[in-house]
Amino acid sequence: MAGRVFSYRLDDITEDMDWEKFLRMKAVFDRFQIKPLIGVVPCNRDPKLKAGAVRQDFWDYVRGLQNEGWTIAQHGYEHLYTTKESGLLGLKNASEFAGVSYEEQREKLRLGKEILQKHGIQAEVFMAPGHTYDENTVKALAENGFCYVTDGYADCVYRLHGMTFIPCKSAGIPSAGVDTVCLHVNGMQEEDFEEIERFIERNRSDIVDYKKLLELSPLEYAGTAEKQEKRNLWKRKVKHSITRNETVQEYLRQHNNSNFLWKWISRIVGLPGLAVKLLVKKA
Ligand SMILES: [Zn+2]
Repeated sequence: MAGRVFSYRLDDITEDMDWEKFLRMKAVFDRFQIKPLIGVVPCNRDPKLKAGAVRQDFWDYVRGLQNEGWTIAQHGYEHLYTTKESGLLGLKNASEFAGVSYEEQREKLRLGKEILQKHGIQAEVFMAPGHTYDENTVKALAENGFCYVTDGYADCVYRLHGMTFIPCKSAGIPSAGVDTVCLHVNGMQEEDFEEIERFIERNRSDIVDYKKLLELSPLEYAGTAEKQEKRNLWKRKVKHSITRNETVQEYLRQHNNSNFLWKWISRIVGLPGLAVKLLVKKA
């Protein structure tokens, strides 16, 4: 697909997240006038998401973002992974939804939505913790009045089981076609903020408010979208098996240099040696 259009999403929005980091990221979006998607956990019970003091006016603040034009997603219910299922995409072997009975999923979604609505938050978008959901999740989402899922690995927006999927394929540099870059501010470091600000400055013309992605007309999943998704998931798998290989990691550490050009010359020149090492290890 020619061209690229993407937006940003911030996961794990809770009353006790790292507010300093969140506000730092918000200042970047404000500077470039970008309105992203945020995933609010309705009733967080995941201790890993706690990163600071509780913000007492949390719900008022989220409502304020909604009024500013930010899009709000319901990010699961309690953000607890209760199964080891990887769901439709297979990106992670842990889920709050995939593998759970249809009735239970429907109830979790309903309770979550009720909390958001009580605070004046209208979420039509669902953000699955761990990108894990199954067919029952999609059915239960439709039952609870959701219209969109911020996930999918195709290069276009697609329709599946009555739900619209807005691709979310990247955590750093967005990929081809339609994409959403997924950011977890709690874990971001100084250099991450600097890097992302530079990236946005250079690529501002490809970035849209998240609402614009919701307006794109979807393709039916069967056909082009399905092919793209399978191809992209396969590419990701290959990339991960290479970058997570110990020999490759050791090689990258050895062939490192603060000079970008030298680093890559050294890495390319060293490739035959790496290939031999990998073959010897395999044998
Ligand atoms: Zn999350």
